[in-house]
Amino acid sequence: MASRVERYCCGCGLCSGVCDHHIDARGYYRPTSDPEESGFDTSVCYCNSLTGAGNPSAPWGPLLTACYSWSSNPDVRHAASSGGTLTALCAHLLRNGMVDGVVQVSTDPEDPMRTTTVVSETPDEVLACAGSRYTASSPYVGLFNRVDQGKRYAVVAKPCDIRVLRSWLVGNADWKNTFPYLLSFFCGGTPTAQANDRLLASMGGSRDNLSSFRYRGCGWPGMTTAAFEGGTAAEMEYEKSWGQILGRDLQEVCRFCWEGTGEAADLSCGDGWYLVGGHPSFKEADGRNVTFARTKAGEELLRSAVAAGVLETSPLEDLEVVNEMQPGQCMRKSAMHSFILAMRLARKQTPSYSLRQLACWQKRLPLAVRCKMFLGTLRRIASGKIE
Ligand SMILES: Cc1cc2nc3c(=O)[nH]c(=O)nc-3n(C[C@H](O)[C@H](O)[C@H](O)COP(=O)(O)OP(=O)(O)OC[C@H]3O[C@@H](n4cnc5c(N)ncnc54)[C@H](O)[C@@H]3O)c2cc1C
Repeated sequence: MASRVERYCCGCGLCSGVCDHHIDARGYYRPTSDPEESGFDTSVCYCNSLTGAGNPSAPWGPLLTACYSWSSNPDVRHAASSGGTLTALCAHLLRNGMVDGVVQVSTDPEDPMRTTTVVSETPDEVLACAGSRYTASSPYVGLFNRVDQGKRYAVVAKPCDIRVLRSWLVGNADWKNTFPYLLSFFCGGTPTAQANDRLLASMGGSRDNLSSFRYRGCGWPGMTTAAFEGGTAAEMEYEKSWGQILGRDLQEVCRFCWEGTGEAADLSCGDGWYLVGGHPSFKEADGRNVTFARTKAGEELLRSAVAAGVLETSPLEDLEVVNEMQPGQCMRKSAMHSFILAMRLARKQTPSYSLRQLACWQKRLPLAVRCKMFLGTLRRIASGKIE
């Protein structure tokens, strides 16, 4: 049986400095040498640093300020994934010399459905990275060759990656000043390369003849858009590309992730969907983020961007609204207890969460729903759908 660290690797790439590694068949970074034997401290790996500890009075994690936000620049707001808050904040940090660079993920020039990590040094370079890429990313591969310890960098990465770096910084305090801003976004999981191939096939093409691809953005949510060699192009609604194809085939660890909202970040952003009848509406609109400043650094950054006029905000007074806006995020946390309990009863491997700690979230779900989820997991195990 694969060890927990192997099975629940989030592919962040932090161990790449000491481990041999490869891209596996599903498109994810994986170490090929044993990280521990290579001298990497695996206590920082996602499955070890995400323990299941939670504070029942803070269902969305540590929170100093919650608001809606969007870039004051209409072009940034239009190009970005949601409201362009992350792009606006990173550009603001660079413009004001608050950091020397932004470690972030961009499109791989060789394959528009893959990603590569860059260190952006200008607002234009940050803008070139705007948008969500629903495919594997490994922001820390080669990190220590890209950054200079004496300089300062913001990092934009998935919640899992940010948690790993935050944990690593605890034991490597001499790097803390190098990474003063850890920024993240809400994440429903990282789709496999196969899910991406299926998406392209259903749009009438393949990677062999793909010339450019955008998952969303250029509107909110914007269309999924592919351009193929020979001049043909295809579009698909975001709701279909994510909801019916990409979001159904994810990295193994994503099924076990209970915090998809960047709780270890200084600040994290999600889609601040408008609600229609208590449900998120994906009707095109001007982009808007729901933004959580989680630390003093995040809160001060938010304030300074607003004061500089590069970011606009509006109040988000009732956090219950976020439950309706982000039902998937709300559910993953509340349902994790039932899922893990069923897995353990069936003697299946799980991350080493404390059930007692996870129990504090499940109270948000009625008992009948919890039972249904528990039995549903057992049924999927019995039918072999869950290994
Ligand atoms: C895999 C994935 C899952 C998501 N799931 C959800 C969800 O469940 N709920 C939700 O509300 N929103 C989800 N999003 C969208 C995300 O919340 C928005 O990107 C966020 O609202 C930020 O919006 P923005 O307009 O500020 O972003 P932008 O200003 O457009 O900036 C986006 C930033 O994200 C970075 N980025 C893009 N793709 C990746 C990637 N694969 N890995 C690392 N960094 C990347 C870019 O480099 C850029 O810095 C997901 C995005 C991704 C990539």
